[in-house]
Amino acid sequence: MRQQIVAGNWKMNNDLAQTESLITELKKIKKTSNAEVMVAPTFTNLFRAFDALRNNDIEVIAQNMHFAENGAYTGEISASMLKSVGVNTVILGHSERRAYFNETDEMLAKKVDAALANNMRVIFCFGEELADRKSGNHENIVESQIKNALFHLEASAFKNIVLAYEPVWAIGTGETASPEQAQDMHAFIRKTLSNKYGKVVADAVSILYGGSVKPNNAQEIFSKPDVDGGLIGGAALNATDFFAIVNAF
Ligand code: 13P
Repeated sequence: MRQQIVAGNWKMNNDLAQTESLITELKKIKKTSNAEVMVAPTFTNLFRAFDALRNNDIEVIAQNMHFAENGAYTGEISASMLKSVGVNTVILGHSERRAYFNETDEMLAKKVDAALANNMRVIFCFGEELADRKSGNHENIVESQIKNALFHLEASAFKNIVLAYEPVWAIGTGETASPEQAQDMHAFIRKTLSNKYGKVVADAVSILYGGSVKPNNAQEIFSKPDVDGGLIGGAALNATDFFAIVNAF
């Protein structure tokens, strides 16, 4: 059985006080599913969040990082800096990073390498835009995003990789991919992995869906055989909603 994961991507939301109060709320709620739970606060709140969740099974993860180990990269954060504040997992390749900060497949391949070299786990995001979906090009886009950033890796690296399919047209729009659309794409992703690395590797990789997952649609999306969890944006900012999604498994 693959690991089920529900991760909350807080994006550029929550200052320190808001981070503390959301964590206080999260700690009050009982987890009834076997899903691994993660939250990704902003860089400035990572250490406080890690500290507040020390004896809890909610993992604190980062939303991004730079590929270099250190040096003249004003405003950037490295893998070892993240690790030094207790962060062992990083989200890479989010569509907002690609769209607003010009992150390319080539740059993402370097970030993936840097994270893995630091023994970090990666949640690697990708997904097509609306025009690609409308023109029927969505599988080609997703395949090339995965190949370009990940297919230089050895098969063994995939034990530290989680994939997150996030169709851009479903992010923050209230429009989700239908459970069938999610399943079709996740099965395609797994087949793409299997063609390159074999079925054993492909079957072990958790593939999350992201894009307007809410308490009222999580259960149906998570019921699909190739959907192993969710990457949650807006609904992760409310503790009750987030745990309703976690407990939808
Ligand atoms: P929403 O859940 O707000 O659509 O965001 C999804 C997302 O981008 C998670 O990374």
